[in-house]
Amino acid sequence: MNNKLYDKLIFNYSQPQRKGYKLRKQCFETTIDKIPANLLRSKAPELPSVDEPTAVRHYTNLSTNNFGVDTGFYPLGSCTMKYNPKINEEIAADEVLKGLHPAQPSTTVQGALEAYFTLQQMLSEIGGMAEFTLNPYAGAHGELTGLMVIHAYHDAHGQTQRTKVIVPDSAHGTNPASAAVCGYQIVEVKSMTDGTVDVEDLKTKLDDTVAAIMMTNPNTVGMFEKNIPEIAELVHSVGALMYYDGANLNPMLGIARPGDMGFDVMHINLHKTFSTPHGGGGPGSGPVGVRKGLEDFLPNPRVVKNADNTFSVATDSSDALGQISAWLGNFAVELRALAYILTLGAEGVATVGPLATLNANYIKASLDDLYKLPISGYCKHEFVFDGLADKSTEVTTLNVAKRLLDFGFHAPTIYFPLLFHESLMIEPTETETKETLDYFIEVMRQIAAEARETPEVVKNAPHTTPVVHPDDTKAALEPRTTWRQINEQY
Ligand SMILES: *Cc1c(COP(=O)(O)O)cnc(C)c1O
Repeated sequence: MNNKLYDKLIFNYSQPQRKGYKLRKQCFETTIDKIPANLLRSKAPELPSVDEPTAVRHYTNLSTNNFGVDTGFYPLGSCTMKYNPKINEEIAADEVLKGLHPAQPSTTVQGALEAYFTLQQMLSEIGGMAEFTLNPYAGAHGELTGLMVIHAYHDAHGQTQRTKVIVPDSAHGTNPASAAVCGYQIVEVKSMTDGTVDVEDLKTKLDDTVAAIMMTNPNTVGMFEKNIPEIAELVHSVGALMYYDGANLNPMLGIARPGDMGFDVMHINLHKTFSTPHGGGGPGSGPVGVRKGLEDFLPNPRVVKNADNTFSVATDSSDALGQISAWLGNFAVELRALAYILTLGAEGVATVGPLATLNANYIKASLDDLYKLPISGYCKHEFVFDGLADKSTEVTTLNVAKRLLDFGFHAPTIYFPLLFHESLMIEPTETETKETLDYFIEVMRQIAAEARETPEVVKNAPHTTPVVHPDDTKAALEPRTTWRQINEQY
């Protein structure tokens, strides 16, 4: 491909007057000659030749086959599927910002670095931490990064005998997985009947071979770990560190801070709490924060503010883990998070949790006569039913979840957490109206009635989706991903 072709393809249909144009063209011109000839196309790609209406219909149909928060209510517990303000999308799609190249000299990207640095500082304030890295790509990646920081910290203190990480039995699967990938042995700590960590059981597992405990607060059953100060004291007394899984930070935003609860290291799922569209595996962002004393171990590269108020990218921190992502993380997700925080402001941020908590408790109290509630008491932003209350119907949580699809809802999270056999985990998020919640409640009540009166209707659901009864195992092993295949039934 020559320069002329590139010009024609990219810039004739773009806005050459925008600032990024010249720089990107220069970048292209200086790199195109360095690409080995065998990697360059020799002839034009063979694209199907179709008329415009067919192409438009194809993509429009595809777009309507996808369910998202813009399509309907999405109460997927633990995932925090909240509304994604469109202003965030506009900012992330800005012609100049999305055209930046990681290898550009930092003098040409001062605005972007300032945005990045500002978000680091805001997250530190929100988390009660000393410093944040925005490099990890997701929550699970943040967990691994945070555990690597903990590992490096213990190593630096000669504490190489710390080979264990404690994980509650209610934890998300990524917690033990991340600890295992980091080389740790996993020790499980039990939950009590109220869903919180059993402090007596924890005491029996703490000694100087423990590197850390990973906790989610509020935890995965939506309950606030009220014994957290005592737990932090016990964990610190044996020299271990407290890791905070921030997937459930949503209800605490601007109200309570993990740093103040005694956590040493934390991650935040920007794509959950800070309103980036997610699902289907990404893109996400899992910034990691640390308290004072652990900053030096955070990975390279880092964005730093210089004495003259300019910003630069530092890659020379000697205690740093090294590089855990391609560069500075998913910048477009970070921009959305910054836009979201700035839009809400400090006061607005603090209204998120109370509204999410109100919504969750409203649904819970409206359904707990028909669905089995294994843990009573107020929940935070999410809660778990253990299937239908009436166990004589043989209608399972899977059936209920599939029946919800017929009414235009995304299914809640099912069979997680593993504490109950028929877990049905509902998280309504703060951005839903009372009308939406009322309709969901009405449908859930109708499904409970159907389970008694016409159970086959629920067991054979869904009835209205493009694919009706896939063989779940076959669908996972032989996914059909093209539009032609989707219309064939499994
Ligand atoms: C979502 C989630 C994770 C994992 O985060 P990803 O961004 O999906 O990698 C970890 N813990 C909890 C409690 C979660 O809900």
